[in-house]
Amino acid sequence: MNKKIITLFHNGEELSEKTCLTLSEKLTQRGYQVTEDYTEDTDLIVCIGGDGAFLRTIHRCDFPNCPIAGINTGHLGFFQDVLPSDLDQFIQQYESGEYNLQELNTVRAIVTTRDGAKHTHLGLNEVTIKGRQSYSVHLSISIGDQYIEKFSGDGLIFATSAGSTAYNYSVGGSIADPRLKLLQVTPIAPMNTTAYRSFTSSILLPADLSLGVIPEQRENQIYLNNDGFETSYDDVKSIEVRVSNTAVHLIRLKGYDFWSKVKDKFL
Ligand code: NAP
Ligand code: MN
Repeated sequence: MNKKIITLFHNGEELSEKTCLTLSEKLTQRGYQVTEDYTEDTDLIVCIGGDGAFLRTIHRCDFPNCPIAGINTGHLGFFQDVLPSDLDQFIQQYESGEYNLQELNTVRAIVTTRDGAKHTHLGLNEVTIKGRQSYSVHLSISIGDQYIEKFSGDGLIFATSAGSTAYNYSVGGSIADPRLKLLQVTPIAPMNTTAYRSFTSSILLPADLSLGVIPEQRENQIYLNNDGFETSYDDVKSIEVRVSNTAVHLIRLKGYDFWSKVKDKFL
């Protein structure tokens, strides 16, 4: 018999570990091959924890092609749709196909360093570009082939719709319905004086436009953060940011509604 492989991850907290064990037993009983070591032939990933755990799972599996389901033991859980008390119902709905796959697009930044090397970073929530420590950063921004502005401030957030409720929202960005495939560029503490001119609100870009970021000559350290994973560069020539074709396939059970999650979290 060709057993379906299910990979389980949890965030190490007591309830998550307990839920993981219970789920593992239930799935094994039903004939699944359950593992905690992800390989590409896995049929389903289940992540137990909060949104942070979900993001870490996605990165650990390098943006997997298979469906992924989230069990919420964290706070609200924008990515998590299953309660630890509903494991039987979840297994039943998974087996009978009573769910939708929500396609969440991602954001991609390609950093070109002065030696010509290219480094790619993917984000499910966002990619953030900042300067060193708590200094301001000066960046030339172009959209498509058009030079737009010289940004000065704490940094820029390039958020997906799924990530719009995270860091983006904390700094005054808009909440975007995840069905919208767009890139939201949100400034963090932009300076807007006669010396520096930058947009002070978010701008929204369609998926087929790319954005160019060129650090000013004097910027010798750039910090790029994708979903909480930080990389520093000291020789950036340019960064290209755009919506990526890589998608995350999230299992949404019947009754899932983005806007009721938003209401429960923020209102
Ligand atoms: P963290 O600092 O432990 O958590 C940041 C908070 O954001 C957590 O409460 C997390 O939920 C929540 N969150 C993550 N993704 C979300 C989403 N798509 N919608 C709504 N809330 C979301 O860091 P982390 O848990 O590793 O998460 C990394 C994320 O933190 C980054 O992608 C960035 O968006 C966010 N962040 C936010 C701020 C800010 O708001 N000032 C600053 C830096 C980074 P859980 O509690 O369920 O994990
Ligand atoms: Mn967290």
